[in-house]
Amino acid sequence: MDFETTFIAQVITVIGFAVGLSIAVASGRYPRHIRGSLRAYSYGKFLLGSAFLVAGLRAGQAPELLIPLANGVGLAGLSMNYTSVRHLQNRPVSPFVPVAVGVAVGLSCLLLLLAGGGMGWVRILTSFATSAILLVIAFEVLVRYEGRGIPHYVTGLLCATLALVYLIRMSAGMAQEDAPVGYSMLDDRVERATFLLSLLGTVVGALNYVLMASDEFNRELAKLAHTDGLTGALNRRRLFELGEVEFRRARRHNRDLTVLVLDIDRFKSINDRAGHPFGDRVIQAVVDCCAGQIRREDAVGRIGGEEFAILLPETGVEAGRLLAERLRCAIERQLSQLAAEGGVTVTCSIGGVSLTREHSEFSDLMAQSDTALYSAKNAGRNQVRFFTAATFTTAATA
Ligand code: GH3
Ligand code: MG
Ligand code: MG
Repeated sequence: MDFETTFIAQVITVIGFAVGLSIAVASGRYPRHIRGSLRAYSYGKFLLGSAFLVAGLRAGQAPELLIPLANGVGLAGLSMNYTSVRHLQNRPVSPFVPVAVGVAVGLSCLLLLLAGGGMGWVRILTSFATSAILLVIAFEVLVRYEGRGIPHYVTGLLCATLALVYLIRMSAGMAQEDAPVGYSMLDDRVERATFLLSLLGTVVGALNYVLMASDEFNRELAKLAHTDGLTGALNRRRLFELGEVEFRRARRHNRDLTVLVLDIDRFKSINDRAGHPFGDRVIQAVVDCCAGQIRREDAVGRIGGEEFAILLPETGVEAGRLLAERLRCAIERQLSQLAAEGGVTVTCSIGGVSLTREHSEFSDLMAQSDTALYSAKNAGRNQVRFFTAATFTTAATA
């Protein structure tokens, strides 16, 4: 197949506008950071489409103006791809970045041409800038992106390949440094190959970008489905799901597992005396305190209004008791200032149990830590009790 370069440029324009429009229209239905990313991507496609529109029409017409314009707009558009990838990860960059890139490239081309530089110089400069931006995007998706999947790898490799293509175009520019302004390189083989690969990149890149955005959306939904809105801790359903997984893992590999159930003492009277919004702050502070005391592999879930469960994999009964006691003290100490603000006392009772051969399901652990918790409540609150088959034993709370 032997398409004319101007025809390829027009196809890129049509695809760029169509993709930009579709994504812009759909973007309104997505959560904020994904919407920001989709919008940045669609603006980028409009800019890229416009750049190729100018490039496809420019042969012989006012080249001193149109060449800088096409390249400035095109590179601003390409930079928007970087902006959109950053938005997807909730790490936005200033909208001035693509504007600055576009203006810098456009002005540099203009100055080069006004200073009498040949078309080859323009090709060197713009190819270099294009490959640099593509490599930055490749680095972003292949190295820095957390939770990468297949579309991220395809996008990264695509950008790296296109960066290489533009470096080859740059070396072709070096052989033509002195080509006169307005000299049309649109029909040479390197330019044709570059345009064809850019077309392919536009289509495959858009498809994979949409898959990346959908991946991010699914992650967002999973997060919403798994977490408690007030505290950010796991919700009851997720905590039980994780508990089942940890239980089976510990059973199969004969590993330790401890479960704690923590309940804020006399929380009803805290609400009654200091108000419900203050009660909410106490609940949040208790979760923050727990999160500060446990390891990354542990998990805290809110399983009731002011009741929490903590999963401690690889933790036996002695380490579990120590942690529970440390947690109880930390809550009493760290929340004392907040408690004083509301004119109340904030303490909690903790019940715990460690996995033994007698446990056949995760729900056994939950039921027994609950029994231990009620024993702690009956014994006067603000203490830790562990369930053992023989009897309940009190942790050293004195
Ligand atoms: P105990 O020491 O026996 O645990 O006494 P308690 O008062 O903490 O126990 P109880 O279960 O009687 O009271 C729990 C209270 O928690 C009742 C409910 O109004 C309150 N509560 C449940 N969810 C929330 C919430 O999201 N925010 C606030 N502020 N209060 C809540
Ligand atoms: Mg309570
Ligand atoms: Mg309770």
